[in-house]
This record gives sequence, C-alpha cells and structure tokens, in this order.
Amino acid sequence: MARPQVNRNQVNRNKTIKDKLAILADAAKYDASCASSGVKRKNKSGGLGNSTGVGICHSYTPDGRCISLLKILLTNFCIYDCKYCINRASSNVPRARFTPDEVVRLTVEFYKRNYIEGLFLSSGIIRDVDYTMDQLAEVARKLRQEHDFNGYIHLKAVPGASDEAVQKAGRWADRLSANIELPTQDDLDELAPAKTVDDVEKTMGEIRQRRDEAKAAKKSKAKDAPRFMPAGQSTQMIVGATPSTDRTILQTADRLYTNHKLKRVYYSAYSPIPDVDPMLPAQTPPLIREHRLYQADWLMRFYGFQAAEIVEEEDNLPLDIDPKLAWAIRHRDLFPVDLNRASFEEIVRVPGIGVRNAKRIVAMRRKRRVRLEDLRKMRSNVRKAAPFVITADKNPHLRRLDDLDLRYQLADRSEQLSLFDAGQSSRLGA
Ligand code: SF4
Repeated sequence: MARPQVNRNQVNRNKTIKDKLAILADAAKYDASCASSGVKRKNKSGGLGNSTGVGICHSYTPDGRCISLLKILLTNFCIYDCKYCINRASSNVPRARFTPDEVVRLTVEFYKRNYIEGLFLSSGIIRDVDYTMDQLAEVARKLRQEHDFNGYIHLKAVPGASDEAVQKAGRWADRLSANIELPTQDDLDELAPAKTVDDVEKTMGEIRQRRDEAKAAKKSKAKDAPRFMPAGQSTQMIVGATPSTDRTILQTADRLYTNHKLKRVYYSAYSPIPDVDPMLPAQTPPLIREHRLYQADWLMRFYGFQAAEIVEEEDNLPLDIDPKLAWAIRHRDLFPVDLNRASFEEIVRVPGIGVRNAKRIVAMRRKRRVRLEDLRKMRSNVRKAAPFVITADKNPHLRRLDDLDLRYQLADRSEQLSLFDAGQSSRLGA
C-alpha cells in the first residue's frame, strides 16, 4: 500500500528555535514512556551536570506526562501513517525539524538554567529507520563528547533500526525505549501498518543483548567494558485505541518483561486527535482503566503475580476495586492469612499490605506477635486488609470474609491509590 506523503515544504526550516520548540514539545507530549530511573553518575571535573546530586525527578502532570526532562521530538515530520498519531504523514499539522546541534544547544542552555535534569528525545521517521536512529544518537553523542554532559538522556529506539545504530544510541543514552504502541500484530495491522511486533521485539532483544554484554564486561572489570544504557529499556502501550482487552495488554507486558528485561511498560490512555480516522474511538477510555493497568503491572513486577492470575475470568480489570483486592475476593479459600505464621509471599498478597510492610511484618514477628494495631501504625490499608488476616489480638473484621457483599464494602469510593504502601505507588504518585 502506498504511503501518504508529507509535503516536505511544510517542515519550515525558517522557523525560529522558539517556533520549533513550541511545535516539537507539544508533539512529544503523547509519549508517556519518558520516566527515568536510578542511574547514578557524578559530575567530572570540568564537566557539566550530573544525575546524582539533583537526582532524576519523576514528575508528572496530572494527565501522567513527564515534566522533569526536556521532552521534545527531533522532528514531527514522519513517513509513517499510524492512525492514532497526530504526527502521522497524512495529518494536517504544522511541521518542524531541529538539527542535532539545535537540540544540543537547547539541552545545555536549559540545563544550565536548572530548568531540566535531562533530555527525552524522540522523532518521527525521517528518511528511514537507521537514519532516524543515527540522528537521535548523534544528539546524545554531541552532548556527552563535546559538552561533557552528565545529565540524563532518554532516547527513542526506532524499531527495526540496525544493531549498529542501536548500539551507538545505547552507548550515549541512559535509557532507550522501543515503543510497542499496541499489544498485538492485528492491532498494528489495523492502525499502524508500517510497524510489526517482530521489529519492535527484535530491537528490544538487541538492546537487551548489548546491555547484558556491557554488564558482564563491567562485572569482569574488563578495561574496555563498553558503556550501554545503564538505566535499561522501557516501552509504551496505548490503551483503548483498539478493542484489545486488559488481559491481552497484560499478557503482552508480561512477555516483554520476561523476554527483554524491560524496566517499565507505560500505559497511555488513547487521546482522540484532530481529524481522527473513523476507525478510532471518539473518546478517551476512562483514566481509571489506565490506573488499574499500572496497579496490575506493579503486581507482576513486585508482588509475584502472573498476568493470567490477575485477569482470570473477565477480560478486563474491574474498575471499582484494585486488581489485588479483586484477586483476593476471587480466592477467599486462600484466606485468612495468619500474619504471625504465613510466608512473605502469602502476606504480600493480602489486600492493603504492600511489599515494604510485608517485610516489616516478617521482621517484627521475630521479636513479638503482630497485632491489628501494628498494621495501622505501618499505615497499611487496614480497611482492606482486616477481613483477610488473623492477628495476635481479636480481629472483629475477620467474620466479614465470607460476606456476599464484601466487594461492595471494600470498593473504592473516591480516589483509588491505596493498593501499595505509602510512598510506593504507580506513576500517578512516584
Ligand atoms: S512512526 Fe511514530 S511519529 Fe510516525 S506516525 Fe507512527 S507513531 Fe507517529
């Protein structure tokens, strides 16, 4: 099928930097996969910036977009025509393109003014995937080599780019993200026919392999140990652009975590765009669906749940209760859990008790018996936990475990942010 052509004259090279910034920062806001994590690199003498002292701030706007990095596109010109994307070839939007030097200058100047801690850089597909990947990598190379920039750099990894192009990017970036965008090949065929799951996973696999090699070389203290993307890789999946269910989305995420050691999968509720294809929904899905997917994602990454356990009977996660509570209500036969005898793995599956408090409970009972009051002091969600636990003292809520309306009793009435310990939350809070 012939690709729609973007009029290259639309990419007005006479635009001022400010004009370009307005266009390319706005165009980048649809990518949610830009949070960063734990890379530690101190400034060197005569160098610029660091990612330790100021840390990499995980800041999000209320709609979940990252705001601590300079988050821009190199260009919103694109030869692809993904139907959900405002920058697709057939979209009638103002176009702009930075040169790598312009992005470098902006990053350095913003960093010096303390506006940002780093750079998140993505791009439309300019000429082909390798050229695009190379242009992105060139920005990172110039920042590191020519400006001694030690701040955080997150680059988009262009699916299907050659191993060499990806390797160059990973040498200079802290994080790479190859976006899968949609959970199945059927979904991509419908909405992004130029993309394939195989290309995305091939790129993820290459990134993983290079990172493993770099880590092994570092561990063996090899003198020429290559630097490769110390903060790992992430991806983004759009939720609600196709009828794919939460089960399918979580199974895809589970596979990517397992096969490619991803640090994070970001879930981004589809936002309707101007002149939208009639194939796409007119409305954004409820944001609570995105939030429930993040909660389910945490269960897979930190609580030992499999995707198949989280979405067992229904195709979609319930919206009225969090997925861990839903699992516990389906499996009342596994409760109550005796907090003074159960294993850590059993305790961490109790609704309202997070990983940190499960560890505290196991440590506490070496010295004394755990009481209901202790859960309160730890700031666990006692309202949710109490019907599911046996404690050393009398627990009057235990008799509610078999209540037919337990789900109704425990349903979230307002804000649903209590699945995890205080301080541990999904991207809405961390
Ligand atoms: S490749 Fe990226 S920028 Fe281009 S149309 Fe698809 S989603 Fe948009």
